[in-house]
Amino acid sequence: PELKHAGYDKVIFRGKSPKLVYIWIHNDKVEIRDASHLKGKGAVETQELIRQELKEPNAQVAAIGLAGENRVYTASIEQGRSSSSRLGMGAVMGDKGIKAIAVRGTKDINLARPAEFIELCNDVLKYIKFRNENPVPNVMTILQGLGSPQEMFHVDEKWHTENFSWGNARTQRKDFWTKGVELRWKEVQESVRTRLISCYNCPMKCGAIISIPGLSAYMMKCFTKLTYTMAAFVDDLDFGFKIAQRATEYGVDGFSTPQIMAFAFELKESGILTDADFAGCPSDNEGKFYWLLDRIVRREGIGDILADGIHWAAQKIGKGAEAYAHNNIKKHEQLPLKLGMLNPVYFLMYATGEKINITQIEGQFPQAPFATMEEREEFISDWIQCPDDKFKQIVLDWEFRGERSNPHYPTVDMSVDIVDWQEKMHYIDDALGVCAGLSSFPLKPPYHMHNYPKFVSAATGIDMDEDGLTQVYNRNRNLLRAVNVRRGLRRADEVPPEDHWKKRFPELEAQLLDAYYKFKGWNNDGIPTKETLQALDLGYVAEDLEQRGIIKNGQD
Ligand code: SF4
Repeated sequence: PELKHAGYDKVIFRGKSPKLVYIWIHNDKVEIRDASHLKGKGAVETQELIRQELKEPNAQVAAIGLAGENRVYTASIEQGRSSSSRLGMGAVMGDKGIKAIAVRGTKDINLARPAEFIELCNDVLKYIKFRNENPVPNVMTILQGLGSPQEMFHVDEKWHTENFSWGNARTQRKDFWTKGVELRWKEVQESVRTRLISCYNCPMKCGAIISIPGLSAYMMKCFTKLTYTMAAFVDDLDFGFKIAQRATEYGVDGFSTPQIMAFAFELKESGILTDADFAGCPSDNEGKFYWLLDRIVRREGIGDILADGIHWAAQKIGKGAEAYAHNNIKKHEQLPLKLGMLNPVYFLMYATGEKINITQIEGQFPQAPFATMEEREEFISDWIQCPDDKFKQIVLDWEFRGERSNPHYPTVDMSVDIVDWQEKMHYIDDALGVCAGLSSFPLKPPYHMHNYPKFVSAATGIDMDEDGLTQVYNRNRNLLRAVNVRRGLRRADEVPPEDHWKKRFPELEAQLLDAYYKFKGWNNDGIPTKETLQALDLGYVAEDLEQRGIIKNGQD
């Protein structure tokens, strides 16, 4: 919102700076300032140093740490109560020589129809209150509420610690969550969690300030609480909070980075990497992880190779290392989760998603069937977010076993429909700049397909309806696909990790991809056709793909 108050919707940086700089946007005035004195400073520390330097305690600052400066592929951008973590955006910022972007905006924000807009906001607030008081029943605790996963609030981690895979996404520890662990983890979390915090003006509290004696405080939300601990096979949550403090200052993604380190230690155990690669590395699990994290963000020794992520590191290392890069999709590390029976909806989302993380693709449709008809009826009884009654029927008919169960139910066409709806909501959130935690990600969120067009209309004065918003989504989805297609993305890349499900069905999976591409108006290699692009006013994109020989005339 600070940027909006300064008078901007988005800021686009072109080109690179020859020396490290930061950008200072103060309403209409924009300055490029020297940042050489901030070189090597932490991503959180930098935010405060810039506020002091500018004498602007209310400026919002987005900054990178050492990882971004050194173009580590998992580098994040940290900002107050949020973090842009996936896909290495921090490396892009570092490559451009931008250490930070500071913004102070004091202008009013003008709405086309303010009274109508505020009324819609009040409805949303009322619904959030209702949902907080009435969690969705009969689903896992983590799926019952709103917001990003409430990892800072919940202390019961039995499900994650026993069902996620530890180390390099390999090992389930089915008896991990003992009474002793439960008590210790609760005690640790409650002692370091100074307070729960929300983003600007949001009634949810998804994040927390973490304060550990002797270390500077930082903000944490979502799964980073668990990822380092589980990747390193360290049984004490205390380690997770401590290493995450260092990692946040370095500015790295908490999903990929621990997996990269676990991958490296697996290669060492297998003899593919040697003692020489790890000269000086401590032998204990905690020490090993700190040591390697320090090397990755500085690109020192083996850290330089690992800084490019598992896929590229495996290619460079060779000697069979590729087989250890087993938990990637499209070259990116995924959730450390291994399951039994193929779920057709999740197969499609994992395979075709271009947002890398499943939490940025999945959302408003249940992850699994409900056990009884009563539970199903209860779920659909107040499902106001559902865009079409056909989805309610799927929920009613979906079983754990028998003909109407995974992998053949939801059917191929139903799966495509469900995925399209899930994706649509995420793409709309991105276009509007709304948090997925209140829309595309949770079950039964306050923002959905039926009220979003009203918000857009009241805010902008644009006459928007559901079809119009769907058109916006389709344009964005196809534009993103075209960008990746230009960079070589093809059907062969649309594969989940081979071991994500134990039971795989190659024929069905091929049918799912065929049907999804057809539904999208793409050819059988996942490339948008000329007709599809033209129908979305993206004729110039079709021309570009034609000039590059990617779309060939007369070929679908
Ligand atoms: S729901 Fe979204 S905006 Fe609100 S506190 Fe959670 S992450 Fe922040």
